[in-house]
Amino acid sequence: MNFLEERIQRDGIVKEGNVLKVDSFLNHQMDIALFQQMGAEFKKRFAGQPINKILTIEASGIGIACIVAEQFHVPVVFAKKSKSINIDGDMYVAEVESFTHKTKNQVIVSRKFLTPEDHVLIIDDFLANGCALQGLISIVSQAGGTVEGIGIAIEKGFQTGGQVIRNLGYHLESLAIVESMDTATGKIVFREQ
Ligand code: 5GP
Repeated sequence: MNFLEERIQRDGIVKEGNVLKVDSFLNHQMDIALFQQMGAEFKKRFAGQPINKILTIEASGIGIACIVAEQFHVPVVFAKKSKSINIDGDMYVAEVESFTHKTKNQVIVSRKFLTPEDHVLIIDDFLANGCALQGLISIVSQAGGTVEGIGIAIEKGFQTGGQVIRNLGYHLESLAIVESMDTATGKIVFREQ
């Protein structure tokens, strides 16, 4: 088991509805020493790629993205969730359904911060059905930029997102892939990588 799998095993809580709760170290209280290990690991896995920008989605992707950005010495842009239907032409817009809240949000990024010159590493905390990632990929494509890679902390391998994104040809790296998890026993099994 790697450092993140060990931490999930120790402190992760399996909830109803295929939700893994990791709020004691990843997406509410944040363990920055752990994030730094994650940043170094992503740097290794995407070494040699011409990445000049990190893109993530608010809220829980932002902390991880900032630590990864420190490794690559590049800025972070985060897609903002917006309820507004009157979005002006200065924005790229994508529709994203939230896995945890079951609501649909428009996410927006200002045209100022993504351009055809950008080589983007997308970072997020979780990959479930891939809706958040599809939204972020759409935004990069609207900008005419290039997705150089996608880095995820925790992929739930029993949901469809990982396969869909890999089948589209993207270089997707997940630090931990949960193969199965059991609400009754709390048992979490990871995919061998
Ligand atoms: P997707 O769009 O891939 O279905 O879901 C990804 C988004 O939903 C992530 O940005 C994450 O915030 C949230 N998410 C999905 N599954 C889980 C989960 O098991 N636990 C937590 N805490 N968040 C999740």
